Amino acid sequence: MIPGPIEFEPAVMQSVGQPTTSHVAPDFIASFGHALEMMREVWLAPAGQPFIIAGTGTLAMDMAGSNLIEPGESALVISTGYFGDRYAELLKRYGANVTLLKAATGDTVKVSEVEAELKKKQYKLMTFTHVDTSTAVMVDPAPLGLLGEKYGVLTVLDGVCSVAGEVIRQDDWKIDVVLTASQKAVGVPPGLALMVVSEKALAVWRERKTPVGNYYCDWSHWLPVMKAYEERRPSYFGTPAVNLVTGLETSLAIILKEGMDSRFARHQRLARVFRTAMKEMGLKMIPLSEEISAGTLSAPYYPEGVQGASFMKAIATSDVILAGGLLPEIKDKYFRVGHMGSVTNGDILATVSAIENALKSAGYSSGK
Ligand code: PMP
Repeated sequence: MIPGPIEFEPAVMQSVGQPTTSHVAPDFIASFGHALEMMREVWLAPAGQPFIIAGTGTLAMDMAGSNLIEPGESALVISTGYFGDRYAELLKRYGANVTLLKAATGDTVKVSEVEAELKKKQYKLMTFTHVDTSTAVMVDPAPLGLLGEKYGVLTVLDGVCSVAGEVIRQDDWKIDVVLTASQKAVGVPPGLALMVVSEKALAVWRERKTPVGNYYCDWSHWLPVMKAYEERRPSYFGTPAVNLVTGLETSLAIILKEGMDSRFARHQRLARVFRTAMKEMGLKMIPLSEEISAGTLSAPYYPEGVQGASFMKAIATSDVILAGGLLPEIKDKYFRVGHMGSVTNGDILATVSAIENALKSAGYSSGK
């Protein structure tokens, strides 16, 4: 129950475990092409250009950043935790002038504050994290996408902890890049960087005056490869992660069979149930309100008097694996529970029970 890598469906593991074929074998070309097509349905981005690249979520962030920023251009980064801060650092490497709008711990940045910042100068790019995995705070991407459209700013959504778990309607919300990694709600072992890019962002990228400062990430290498796979033609730039792509085809089919709206609703319901159980036990959550609490993971503070180390030691003897804190300033004060992908009612129940027992052995009694 950690926020990635999650537990994967047996059918996905079976696909990943098939003998590795050539990256230009006809059946692999068909799988790759099919996975690209299904990404548009999962991202709700019928007009977008999907990319499947070997790498992690940070590579997906790097790819969007390096292709869309030229040295000296301005980027606005909205940070709700550790991964927002990472995006600010990353964009500086490509020469961006970065303005960081940082939320207080557990809160989001108000849409009106973002708009006030966009009025001050012309930004090229704005990034925001849908669910920051360090805080479990969820940002509503819809108004931010529409602000980007209004002010002529490209928008990038870090959806590493949200795609295929939280509601995302990329086309409706006019978000130019929605990126993620395979190991979270998409449900495939770590190793794939995934993103869907709008035609508008590609048009801006085509007008670049300077070459992309990252050789591997340059879309001019990958765009023809993605197009070729969709047209069921062989192609090559870098060897794809063949087994993971086959697993991705299986996982995306499982996701679409559940249906996006049902999948979003299941995540919201299980998260709500989990938070209710934590609150009943007297635990406070990092996100300051229900409206900004994620469906994919939760981050409860340890109750008064409970030491993280003794709680984690007790959890280690249960059947449930949880994650510790990540945000440096409060790292030892909270823990994290992922509930995304194939998670069930039974998983939530077992987790709540393990937490209750671990709290008890760490000396805590909720008095209920
Ligand atoms: N953004 C968010 C919101 C994440 O949760 C993570 C990983 N936990 C990343 C980016 C980076 O992804 P990766 O670890 O796959 O590089």
